[in-house]
Amino acid sequence: MTAGHGHDGPFIPVEQYQSAILAAITPLPPVSVTLADAEGCVLAEDVTAAISLPSFDNSGMDGYAVHAKDTISSSERAPTTLQVTSEIAAGDTGTYRISPGTASKIMTGARMPDGADAVVQVESTDGGTDRVQVYRPVEPGNAVRYAGGDAAEGETLLSAGVRMRPMQIAVAASAGRRAVMVRPRPRVVVLSTGNELTEPGTPLVPGQIWDSNSYMLAAAAREAGALARRRSGVPDDPAGMLPALEEQLDGADLLITTGGVSMGGEHDVVKAALQKLGTVAFRKVAMQPGMPQGFGTIGEKRVPIFTLPGNPVSAYVSFQLFVRPALAALQGAGDLALPAARATLTASVRSPGGRRSYLRGVLDGDQVTPLSGQGSHQIAALGRANALIIVPEQDTSLPEGRAVDVLVLPLAAGQEHPPVHGWRRLRHA
Ligand code: AMP
Ligand code: MG
Repeated sequence: MTAGHGHDGPFIPVEQYQSAILAAITPLPPVSVTLADAEGCVLAEDVTAAISLPSFDNSGMDGYAVHAKDTISSSERAPTTLQVTSEIAAGDTGTYRISPGTASKIMTGARMPDGADAVVQVESTDGGTDRVQVYRPVEPGNAVRYAGGDAAEGETLLSAGVRMRPMQIAVAASAGRRAVMVRPRPRVVVLSTGNELTEPGTPLVPGQIWDSNSYMLAAAAREAGALARRRSGVPDDPAGMLPALEEQLDGADLLITTGGVSMGGEHDVVKAALQKLGTVAFRKVAMQPGMPQGFGTIGEKRVPIFTLPGNPVSAYVSFQLFVRPALAALQGAGDLALPAARATLTASVRSPGGRRSYLRGVLDGDQVTPLSGQGSHQIAALGRANALIIVPEQDTSLPEGRAVDVLVLPLAAGQEHPPVHGWRRLRHA
Protein backbone atom coordinates (compact mmCIF):
# COMPACT_ATOMS: atom_id res chain seq x y z
CA MET A 1 0.00 0.00 0.00
CA THR A 2 1.36 3.37 -0.99
CA ALA A 3 0.41 6.14 1.38
CA GLY A 4 -1.22 9.31 0.17
CA HIS A 5 -3.36 8.37 -2.81
CA GLY A 6 -5.54 5.58 -1.47
CA HIS A 7 -5.37 3.38 -4.60
CA ASP A 8 -3.62 0.24 -3.49
CA GLY A 9 -0.37 -1.23 -4.69
CA PRO A 10 1.65 -0.81 -7.86
CA PHE A 11 0.29 -0.57 -11.38
CA ILE A 12 -1.69 -3.63 -12.44
CA PRO A 13 -1.63 -4.59 -16.16
CA VAL A 14 -4.88 -4.11 -18.10
CA GLU A 15 -5.37 -7.84 -18.83
CA GLN A 16 -4.79 -8.84 -15.23
CA TYR A 17 -7.40 -6.33 -14.07
CA GLN A 18 -9.85 -7.59 -16.72
CA SER A 19 -9.36 -11.19 -15.54
CA ALA A 20 -9.91 -10.24 -11.91
CA ILE A 21 -13.22 -8.63 -12.88
CA LEU A 22 -14.43 -11.56 -14.97
CA ALA A 23 -13.56 -14.01 -12.19
CA ALA A 24 -16.05 -12.20 -9.94
CA ILE A 25 -18.99 -12.25 -12.37
CA THR A 26 -21.58 -15.04 -12.67
CA PRO A 27 -24.13 -15.12 -15.50
CA LEU A 28 -27.69 -14.07 -14.61
CA PRO A 29 -30.21 -16.94 -14.21
CA PRO A 30 -32.05 -17.73 -17.47
CA VAL A 31 -35.64 -16.64 -18.12
CA SER A 32 -38.12 -17.59 -20.81
CA VAL A 33 -39.06 -14.85 -23.31
CA THR A 34 -41.30 -14.95 -26.36
CA LEU A 35 -39.61 -14.43 -29.70
CA ALA A 36 -41.03 -10.92 -29.91
CA ASP A 37 -39.02 -10.00 -26.81
CA ALA A 38 -35.88 -11.99 -27.55
CA GLU A 39 -34.08 -9.52 -29.79
CA GLY A 40 -30.65 -8.65 -28.43
CA CYS A 41 -30.79 -11.23 -25.62
CA VAL A 42 -28.28 -14.06 -25.28
CA LEU A 43 -29.58 -17.59 -25.67
CA ALA A 44 -29.26 -19.79 -22.56
CA GLU A 45 -30.22 -23.09 -24.23
CA ASP A 46 -29.60 -24.87 -27.50
CA VAL A 47 -32.40 -24.58 -30.05
CA THR A 48 -32.99 -27.73 -32.11
CA ALA A 49 -35.22 -28.27 -35.12
CA ALA A 50 -38.58 -29.68 -33.96
CA ILE A 51 -39.07 -31.15 -37.43
CA SER A 52 -36.84 -31.38 -40.47
CA LEU A 53 -36.50 -28.14 -42.41
CA PRO A 54 -38.21 -27.92 -44.78
CA SER A 55 -40.65 -30.51 -43.49
CA PHE A 56 -41.97 -31.54 -46.93
CA ASP A 57 -40.61 -31.60 -50.48
CA ASN A 58 -41.64 -28.36 -52.14
CA SER A 59 -41.07 -26.28 -55.21
CA GLY A 60 -38.22 -23.76 -55.27
CA MET A 61 -39.81 -21.81 -58.11
CA ASP A 62 -43.05 -20.89 -59.78
CA GLY A 63 -43.47 -23.34 -62.65
CA TYR A 64 -44.63 -26.88 -63.40
CA ALA A 65 -43.98 -30.05 -61.43
CA VAL A 66 -43.12 -32.77 -63.93
CA HIS A 67 -41.54 -36.14 -64.56
CA ALA A 68 -38.05 -35.02 -65.59
CA LYS A 69 -37.95 -37.85 -68.15
CA ASP A 70 -40.85 -36.28 -70.05
CA THR A 71 -38.77 -33.17 -70.78
CA ILE A 72 -35.62 -34.89 -72.12
CA SER A 73 -36.06 -33.88 -75.75
CA SER A 74 -37.65 -30.45 -75.11
CA SER A 75 -36.36 -27.41 -76.99
CA GLU A 76 -37.75 -24.09 -78.13
CA ARG A 77 -38.16 -25.46 -81.64
CA ALA A 78 -39.68 -28.75 -80.51
CA PRO A 79 -41.40 -28.13 -77.16
CA THR A 80 -42.86 -31.00 -75.15
CA THR A 81 -46.57 -30.59 -74.49
CA LEU A 82 -47.87 -31.79 -71.10
CA GLN A 83 -51.42 -31.95 -69.76
CA VAL A 84 -51.83 -29.70 -66.69
CA THR A 85 -53.94 -31.69 -64.24
CA SER A 86 -53.79 -29.52 -61.13
CA GLU A 87 -52.65 -26.20 -59.73
CA ILE A 88 -50.91 -26.17 -56.34
CA ALA A 89 -50.41 -22.93 -54.38
CA ALA A 90 -48.23 -22.47 -51.31
CA GLY A 91 -50.30 -23.45 -48.29
CA ASP A 92 -52.43 -25.96 -50.24
CA THR A 93 -52.52 -28.98 -47.93
CA GLY A 94 -54.22 -31.31 -50.41
CA THR A 95 -52.48 -34.36 -51.87
CA TYR A 96 -51.83 -34.35 -55.60
CA ARG A 97 -50.36 -36.89 -57.99
CA ILE A 98 -49.18 -36.66 -61.56
CA SER A 99 -48.67 -39.46 -64.01
CA PRO A 100 -46.25 -39.47 -66.95
CA GLY A 101 -47.24 -36.98 -69.63
CA THR A 102 -48.92 -34.64 -67.13
CA ALA A 103 -47.83 -31.72 -64.97
CA SER A 104 -49.03 -29.66 -62.00
CA LYS A 105 -48.83 -25.91 -62.14
CA ILE A 106 -46.99 -25.16 -58.90
CA MET A 107 -46.00 -22.07 -56.87
CA THR A 108 -42.83 -21.47 -54.85
CA GLY A 109 -43.11 -23.22 -51.48
CA ALA A 110 -46.04 -25.43 -52.56
CA ARG A 111 -45.84 -29.12 -51.72
CA MET A 112 -44.64 -31.32 -54.61
CA PRO A 113 -47.26 -33.65 -56.06
CA ASP A 114 -46.58 -37.37 -55.75
CA GLY A 115 -44.93 -38.75 -58.86
CA ALA A 116 -43.16 -35.52 -59.79
CA ASP A 117 -39.38 -35.38 -59.52
CA ALA A 118 -38.58 -31.92 -60.93
CA VAL A 119 -39.93 -28.44 -61.49
CA VAL A 120 -39.68 -26.57 -64.79
CA GLN A 121 -39.53 -22.88 -64.05
CA VAL A 122 -42.32 -20.87 -65.66
CA GLU A 123 -39.82 -18.92 -67.78
CA SER A 124 -38.94 -22.16 -69.62
CA THR A 125 -42.57 -22.71 -70.65
CA ASP A 126 -45.43 -20.94 -72.41
CA GLY A 127 -47.16 -20.58 -69.03
CA GLY A 128 -50.19 -22.58 -70.24
CA THR A 129 -53.18 -23.40 -68.05
CA ASP A 130 -54.73 -26.60 -69.45
CA ARG A 131 -51.69 -27.66 -71.39
CA VAL A 132 -48.15 -26.42 -71.09
CA GLN A 133 -45.33 -26.29 -73.62
CA VAL A 134 -41.94 -27.01 -72.11
CA TYR A 135 -38.97 -25.45 -73.93
CA ARG A 136 -36.09 -26.96 -72.00
CA PRO A 137 -35.17 -30.32 -70.49
CA VAL A 138 -34.75 -30.49 -66.71
CA GLU A 139 -32.78 -32.94 -64.58
CA PRO A 140 -34.47 -34.87 -61.76
CA GLY A 141 -34.40 -32.67 -58.64
CA ASN A 142 -34.44 -29.40 -60.60
CA ALA A 143 -35.91 -26.58 -58.43
CA VAL A 144 -37.07 -29.05 -55.78
CA ARG A 145 -36.41 -28.19 -52.12
CA TYR A 146 -36.24 -31.54 -50.39
CA ALA A 147 -37.47 -32.22 -46.87
CA GLY A 148 -34.51 -31.91 -44.49
CA GLY A 149 -32.42 -30.09 -47.09
CA ASP A 150 -31.94 -27.14 -44.73
CA ALA A 151 -31.70 -29.01 -41.42
CA ALA A 152 -32.49 -32.46 -40.10
CA GLU A 153 -35.04 -33.05 -37.34
CA GLY A 154 -33.31 -32.70 -33.97
CA GLU A 155 -30.33 -30.84 -35.42
CA THR A 156 -28.90 -28.06 -33.22
CA LEU A 157 -29.60 -24.80 -35.02
CA LEU A 158 -28.57 -22.29 -32.35
CA SER A 159 -26.20 -22.84 -29.46
CA ALA A 160 -26.39 -21.34 -25.98
CA GLY A 161 -24.35 -18.14 -25.83
CA VAL A 162 -25.42 -16.82 -29.21
CA ARG A 163 -27.04 -13.38 -29.28
CA MET A 164 -30.56 -13.33 -30.70
CA ARG A 165 -30.23 -11.03 -33.65
CA PRO A 166 -32.85 -10.95 -36.42
CA MET A 167 -31.30 -13.96 -38.19
CA GLN A 168 -31.32 -16.10 -35.04
CA ILE A 169 -34.89 -15.07 -34.25
CA ALA A 170 -35.89 -16.29 -37.72
CA VAL A 171 -34.13 -19.60 -37.07
CA ALA A 172 -35.90 -20.08 -33.71
CA ALA A 173 -39.27 -19.32 -35.30
CA SER A 174 -38.52 -21.73 -38.18
CA ALA A 175 -37.62 -24.36 -35.60
CA GLY A 176 -41.12 -24.00 -34.17
CA ARG A 177 -40.20 -22.10 -31.01
CA ARG A 178 -42.60 -19.55 -29.58
CA ALA A 179 -40.33 -18.75 -26.64
CA VAL A 180 -36.68 -19.31 -25.82
CA MET A 181 -34.59 -19.35 -22.65
CA VAL A 182 -32.28 -16.35 -22.55
CA ARG A 183 -30.19 -14.51 -20.00
CA PRO A 184 -32.14 -11.39 -19.08
CA ARG A 185 -30.69 -8.05 -20.04
CA PRO A 186 -28.61 -6.89 -17.06
CA ARG A 187 -30.19 -3.98 -15.19
CA VAL A 188 -27.54 -1.30 -14.90
CA VAL A 189 -27.76 1.81 -12.76
CA VAL A 190 -25.33 4.66 -13.48
CA LEU A 191 -24.73 7.14 -10.67
CA SER A 192 -22.78 10.30 -11.34
CA THR A 193 -21.25 12.16 -8.45
CA GLY A 194 -19.94 15.70 -8.21
CA ASN A 195 -21.31 18.93 -6.81
CA GLU A 196 -20.30 20.59 -10.08
CA LEU A 197 -22.82 18.57 -12.09
CA THR A 198 -26.13 19.92 -13.37
CA GLU A 199 -28.61 18.55 -15.87
CA PRO A 200 -27.98 19.37 -19.54
CA GLY A 201 -30.54 21.94 -20.66
CA THR A 202 -30.50 23.87 -17.41
CA PRO A 203 -28.58 27.16 -17.09
CA LEU A 204 -24.95 26.91 -16.02
CA VAL A 205 -23.31 29.01 -13.34
CA PRO A 206 -19.52 29.32 -13.83
CA GLY A 207 -17.94 26.45 -11.93
CA GLN A 208 -20.65 24.01 -12.90
CA ILE A 209 -20.71 21.56 -15.82
CA TRP A 210 -23.44 19.56 -17.46
CA ASP A 211 -23.47 15.90 -16.51
CA SER A 212 -22.46 13.96 -19.62
CA ASN A 213 -21.11 10.77 -18.06
CA SER A 214 -24.37 9.35 -16.78
CA TYR A 215 -26.01 9.75 -20.19
CA MET A 216 -22.96 8.38 -21.98
CA LEU A 217 -22.56 5.33 -19.75
CA ALA A 218 -26.26 4.47 -19.72
CA ALA A 219 -26.20 4.60 -23.53
CA ALA A 220 -23.03 2.51 -23.69
CA ALA A 221 -24.59 -0.08 -21.36
CA ARG A 222 -27.66 -0.31 -23.58
CA GLU A 223 -25.41 -0.69 -26.60
CA ALA A 224 -23.87 -3.66 -24.78
CA GLY A 225 -27.26 -5.35 -24.31
CA ALA A 226 -28.22 -3.98 -20.88
CA LEU A 227 -31.21 -2.06 -19.55
CA ALA A 228 -29.83 1.11 -18.04
CA ARG A 229 -31.08 3.89 -15.78
CA ARG A 230 -29.27 6.96 -14.58
CA ARG A 231 -29.30 8.54 -11.18
CA SER A 232 -27.63 11.92 -11.18
CA GLY A 233 -27.09 14.41 -8.43
CA VAL A 234 -25.72 11.90 -5.98
CA PRO A 235 -24.54 13.91 -2.95
CA ASP A 236 -20.83 14.68 -2.97
CA ASP A 237 -20.37 13.61 0.65
CA PRO A 238 -19.67 10.15 2.05
CA ALA A 239 -22.69 10.24 4.35
CA GLY A 240 -25.07 10.75 1.44
CA MET A 241 -23.22 8.58 -1.01
CA LEU A 242 -23.71 5.13 0.53
CA PRO A 243 -27.47 5.44 1.10
CA ALA A 244 -27.83 6.66 -2.50
CA LEU A 245 -26.02 3.53 -3.69
CA GLU A 246 -27.90 1.17 -1.39
CA GLU A 247 -31.21 2.57 -2.62
CA GLN A 248 -30.37 1.16 -6.07
CA LEU A 249 -29.33 -2.32 -5.00
CA ASP A 250 -32.73 -4.00 -5.25
CA GLY A 251 -33.25 -3.20 -8.89
CA ALA A 252 -29.72 -3.52 -10.19
CA ASP A 253 -27.55 -6.31 -11.56
CA LEU A 254 -24.57 -3.97 -11.94
CA LEU A 255 -23.76 -0.50 -10.67
CA ILE A 256 -21.51 2.11 -12.24
CA THR A 257 -20.43 5.29 -10.51
CA THR A 258 -18.43 8.08 -12.09
CA GLY A 259 -16.32 10.68 -10.38
CA GLY A 260 -15.11 10.85 -6.84
CA VAL A 261 -12.21 8.42 -7.18
CA SER A 262 -9.24 10.61 -8.08
CA MET A 263 -5.88 10.13 -6.47
CA GLY A 264 -6.29 11.79 -3.14
CA GLY A 265 -8.74 14.67 -3.21
CA GLU A 266 -10.74 14.94 -0.02
CA HIS A 267 -13.85 15.19 -2.19
CA ASP A 268 -13.39 11.66 -3.45
CA VAL A 269 -16.63 10.57 -1.88
CA VAL A 270 -17.16 7.37 -3.80
CA LYS A 271 -13.86 5.99 -2.69
CA ALA A 272 -14.30 7.22 0.86
CA ALA A 273 -17.74 5.64 1.13
CA LEU A 274 -16.87 2.31 -0.49
CA GLN A 275 -13.50 1.87 1.15
CA LYS A 276 -15.32 1.58 4.46
CA LEU A 277 -17.32 -1.38 3.15
CA GLY A 278 -14.13 -3.21 2.27
CA THR A 279 -15.67 -5.09 -0.65
CA VAL A 280 -14.41 -2.79 -3.40
CA ALA A 281 -10.74 -2.73 -4.38
CA PHE A 282 -9.19 0.45 -5.72
CA ARG A 283 -6.38 -0.16 -8.14
CA LYS A 284 -4.04 1.77 -10.36
CA VAL A 285 -4.28 0.19 -13.81
CA ALA A 286 -1.31 0.67 -16.12
CA MET A 287 -3.23 2.64 -18.71
CA GLN A 288 -4.08 6.13 -19.88
CA PRO A 289 -6.71 7.41 -19.72
CA GLY A 290 -8.45 5.60 -16.87
CA MET A 291 -5.72 4.81 -14.35
CA PRO A 292 -7.73 4.98 -11.09
CA GLN A 293 -10.19 2.08 -11.13
CA GLY A 294 -12.38 0.50 -8.51
CA PHE A 295 -14.28 -2.77 -8.74
CA GLY A 296 -15.98 -5.04 -6.24
CA THR A 297 -19.40 -6.05 -5.01
CA ILE A 298 -21.90 -4.34 -2.76
CA GLY A 299 -24.87 -5.43 -0.65
CA GLU A 300 -26.15 -8.84 0.38
CA LYS A 301 -26.69 -9.85 -3.21
CA ARG A 302 -23.10 -8.87 -4.01
CA VAL A 303 -24.00 -6.64 -6.91
CA PRO A 304 -20.91 -5.89 -9.01
CA ILE A 305 -19.92 -2.24 -8.86
CA PHE A 306 -17.51 -0.27 -11.02
CA THR A 307 -16.24 3.09 -9.84
CA LEU A 308 -15.11 4.84 -13.02
CA PRO A 309 -13.07 8.03 -13.12
CA GLY A 310 -14.94 11.30 -13.63
CA ASN A 311 -13.20 12.58 -16.72
CA PRO A 312 -15.53 11.66 -19.57
CA VAL A 313 -12.91 10.14 -21.88
CA SER A 314 -11.49 8.10 -18.99
CA ALA A 315 -14.97 6.92 -18.09
CA TYR A 316 -15.70 5.92 -21.69
CA VAL A 317 -12.46 4.02 -22.24
CA SER A 318 -12.84 2.32 -18.85
CA PHE A 319 -16.36 1.26 -19.75
CA GLN A 320 -15.27 -0.32 -23.03
CA LEU A 321 -12.32 -2.14 -21.49
CA PHE A 322 -13.81 -3.33 -18.20
CA VAL A 323 -17.58 -2.90 -17.95
CA ARG A 324 -18.43 -4.15 -21.43
CA PRO A 325 -16.82 -7.58 -20.89
CA ALA A 326 -18.50 -7.79 -17.47
CA LEU A 327 -21.89 -7.14 -19.08
CA ALA A 328 -21.10 -9.87 -21.62
CA ALA A 329 -20.29 -12.28 -18.78
CA LEU A 330 -23.58 -11.44 -16.99
CA GLN A 331 -25.35 -12.29 -20.25
CA GLY A 332 -23.37 -15.49 -20.75
CA ALA A 333 -22.04 -14.09 -24.01
CA GLY A 334 -18.58 -13.94 -25.44
CA ASP A 335 -19.25 -11.32 -28.08
CA LEU A 336 -18.61 -8.02 -26.39
CA ALA A 337 -14.86 -7.53 -26.74
CA LEU A 338 -14.19 -4.62 -29.06
CA PRO A 339 -12.94 -5.88 -32.44
CA ALA A 340 -9.22 -5.28 -32.95
CA ALA A 341 -7.50 -4.28 -36.18
CA ARG A 342 -4.02 -3.41 -37.41
CA ALA A 343 -3.48 0.02 -38.95
CA THR A 344 -0.71 2.43 -39.90
CA LEU A 345 -0.33 5.70 -38.01
CA THR A 346 -0.70 8.78 -40.22
CA ALA A 347 1.03 10.93 -37.57
CA SER A 348 3.35 10.39 -34.63
CA VAL A 349 1.95 9.90 -31.14
CA ARG A 350 3.23 10.16 -27.57
CA SER A 351 2.46 8.15 -24.49
CA PRO A 352 3.59 7.97 -20.86
CA GLY A 353 6.13 5.22 -20.16
CA GLY A 354 4.93 2.21 -18.21
CA ARG A 355 1.27 2.70 -19.12
CA ARG A 356 -0.67 1.58 -22.16
CA SER A 357 -2.32 4.45 -23.99
CA TYR A 358 -5.69 4.26 -25.67
CA LEU A 359 -5.62 7.30 -27.94
CA ARG A 360 -8.69 8.48 -29.78
CA GLY A 361 -8.34 8.09 -33.51
CA VAL A 362 -10.12 7.83 -36.84
CA LEU A 363 -9.68 4.52 -38.59
CA ASP A 364 -10.04 4.62 -42.36
CA GLY A 365 -9.11 1.47 -44.22
CA ASP A 366 -5.69 0.41 -42.99
CA GLN A 367 -4.73 3.90 -41.79
CA VAL A 368 -5.46 5.47 -38.44
CA THR A 369 -5.24 9.18 -37.69
CA PRO A 370 -4.75 10.28 -34.08
CA LEU A 371 -7.13 13.11 -33.18
CA SER A 372 -5.88 16.31 -31.66
CA GLY A 373 -7.15 16.88 -28.13
CA GLN A 374 -6.02 13.74 -26.31
CA GLY A 375 -6.75 15.09 -22.83
CA SER A 376 -9.03 12.86 -20.80
CA HIS A 377 -11.49 15.75 -20.44
CA GLN A 378 -11.56 16.46 -24.19
CA ILE A 379 -14.93 15.10 -25.13
CA ALA A 380 -15.00 16.88 -28.50
CA ALA A 381 -12.29 14.57 -29.85
CA LEU A 382 -14.11 11.54 -28.40
CA GLY A 383 -17.13 12.51 -30.47
CA ARG A 384 -15.04 12.30 -33.64
CA ALA A 385 -13.32 9.00 -32.85
CA ASN A 386 -14.22 5.59 -34.23
CA ALA A 387 -11.22 3.75 -32.81
CA LEU A 388 -8.77 3.62 -29.92
CA ILE A 389 -5.10 3.51 -30.88
CA ILE A 390 -3.06 1.30 -28.54
CA VAL A 391 0.41 2.48 -27.61
CA PRO A 392 2.19 -0.31 -25.70
CA GLU A 393 3.43 0.22 -22.14
CA GLN A 394 7.11 0.37 -23.08
CA ASP A 395 6.73 3.00 -25.83
CA THR A 396 6.81 6.71 -25.08
CA SER A 397 6.39 7.69 -28.72
CA LEU A 398 5.60 6.07 -32.06
CA PRO A 399 6.51 7.59 -35.42
CA GLU A 400 4.24 8.23 -38.38
CA GLY A 401 4.07 5.10 -40.55
CA ARG A 402 4.27 2.66 -37.63
CA ALA A 403 1.80 -0.24 -37.59
CA VAL A 404 -0.32 -0.26 -34.42
CA ASP A 405 -3.17 -2.23 -32.88
CA VAL A 406 -6.46 -0.38 -32.70
CA LEU A 407 -9.76 -1.20 -31.03
CA VAL A 408 -12.78 -0.48 -33.20
CA LEU A 409 -15.49 1.35 -31.25
CA PRO A 410 -19.09 0.13 -31.39
CA LEU A 411 -21.10 1.70 -34.16
CA ALA A 412 -24.60 3.08 -34.15
CA ALA A 413 -27.18 1.18 -36.17
CA GLY A 414 -26.99 2.24 -39.79
CA GLN A 415 -23.52 3.71 -39.43
CA GLU A 416 -21.01 2.35 -41.90
CA HIS A 417 -18.39 0.09 -40.44
CA PRO A 418 -14.91 1.53 -40.85
CA PRO A 419 -13.34 -0.52 -43.61
CA VAL A 420 -10.83 -2.33 -41.42
CA HIS A 421 -8.38 -4.70 -42.99
CA GLY A 422 -10.07 -8.07 -42.61
CA TRP A 423 -13.48 -6.69 -43.42
CA ARG A 424 -12.32 -5.19 -46.68
CA ARG A 425 -10.70 -8.43 -47.74
CA LEU A 426 -13.91 -10.26 -46.93
CA ARG A 427 -16.00 -7.87 -48.96
CA HIS A 428 -13.90 -8.10 -52.07
CA ALA A 429 -13.24 -11.82 -51.77
P1 AMP B 1 -13.48 13.44 -10.28
O1 AMP B 1 -13.16 12.01 -10.70
O2 AMP B 1 -14.74 13.54 -9.49
O3 AMP B 1 -12.33 14.09 -9.60
O4 AMP B 1 -13.73 14.22 -11.62
C1 AMP B 1 -12.71 14.37 -12.60
C2 AMP B 1 -13.17 15.33 -13.67
O5 AMP B 1 -14.29 14.79 -14.36
C3 AMP B 1 -13.62 16.68 -13.15
O6 AMP B 1 -13.22 17.68 -14.06
C4 AMP B 1 -15.11 16.55 -13.13
O7 AMP B 1 -15.76 17.78 -13.21
C5 AMP B 1 -15.36 15.71 -14.35
N1 AMP B 1 -16.62 14.98 -14.21
C6 AMP B 1 -16.97 14.22 -13.15
N2 AMP B 1 -18.19 13.67 -13.32
C7 AMP B 1 -18.61 14.10 -14.52
C8 AMP B 1 -19.83 13.87 -15.27
N3 AMP B 1 -20.80 13.12 -14.76
N4 AMP B 1 -19.94 14.45 -16.48
C9 AMP B 1 -18.93 15.19 -16.98
N5 AMP B 1 -17.79 15.44 -16.32
C10 AMP B 1 -17.62 14.91 -15.11
MG1 MG C 1 -15.77 14.73 -8.31
